[in-house]
Amino acid sequence: MMDREVLLSVKNISIDYGSGKKVFHAVKDVSFDIYKGETFGIVGESGSGKTTIGRAINRINPTTSGDILFKGKKINGKIDKVTDRMVTEKIQMIFQDPMASLNERAKVDYIISEGLVNVHPEYDAKKRSEMVKAAMEEVGLLPEFASRFPHEFSGGQRQRIGIARAVIMNPELIIADEPISALDVSIRAQVLNMLMKLQKENGLTYLFIAHDLSVMRFICDRIAVVHKGKIVELAETEELYAHPLHPYTRSLLSAIPLPNPILAKQKKHIVYDPSMHDYSTDKPRMEELRPGHFVYGNEKEMNEYKRMVKE
Ligand code: ADP
Ligand code: MG
Repeated sequence: MMDREVLLSVKNISIDYGSGKKVFHAVKDVSFDIYKGETFGIVGESGSGKTTIGRAINRINPTTSGDILFKGKKINGKIDKVTDRMVTEKIQMIFQDPMASLNERAKVDYIISEGLVNVHPEYDAKKRSEMVKAAMEEVGLLPEFASRFPHEFSGGQRQRIGIARAVIMNPELIIADEPISALDVSIRAQVLNMLMKLQKENGLTYLFIAHDLSVMRFICDRIAVVHKGKIVELAETEELYAHPLHPYTRSLLSAIPLPNPILAKQKKHIVYDPSMHDYSTDKPRMEELRPGHFVYGNEKEMNEYKRMVKE
């Protein structure tokens, strides 16, 4: 496991909105690596900074401090044109709301090929249209729909258009920012399965963002739990579900809806109250308590967590 290839390395990034007295620290000293071919999850409640992290990776948001390395190359801050183009091509994003993220006035073939035209202006119309067709087929859309407008599609189909737009770039990393949250519950599994199929077929690496832990178990290899812009726990998926240490992780786990209504009624929802941490003198840090399992806490909490992992 130690010799896996790191595709993306996020090192101590912080991201602020605004400045001076109005500064808001949206992301605070966040670090993680994503290995080639894995699905890395980021989970946390709404407003915890997940989208901000995703947008910093593909350069939509500037970082305030820290480094982001893609294949060992720094991609945040000032970079040269060649690197910028590599990011534009190799890191793609799938957005949360397929109703809002597509240009209503453009036809589907234009929407899907827009990024491609920017990165590969040398491709002629015939090649482009062939690539659009192939991308549509890959995501389960009929190529004859290429000349239709977004409003003619359902939410699930629109999300497939958004995914085709990413896939056509032949990316290495896809940031899927709550890609199924806005979709009808009945079609979520289809879209997830399609994403997993695409990953297998194209050797893709995913950063998968979600606001709860309900589906992450099925798709993520490792998960980072964020609370108010900080990672509070990071572990392999099965390890995290079996031995959640941080109280915020435990609260997220307790909120997963159960399909069985009787069990659901019996389940107790753990409420997380951040004021439980007294960090006034005993300062917190990230520590690896089991191989690959990191948790944020101070000395007193670490001792408690260490007891928990031994149970
Ligand atoms: P998440 O994706 O986890 O819901 P976001 O990354 O969208 O969280 O936002 C993190 C925090 O940053 C939120 O409190 C949000 O209100 C704030 N924020 C996001 N975008 C902006 C912005 N452009 N200007 C100011 N604050 C912002
Ligand atoms: Mg978000």
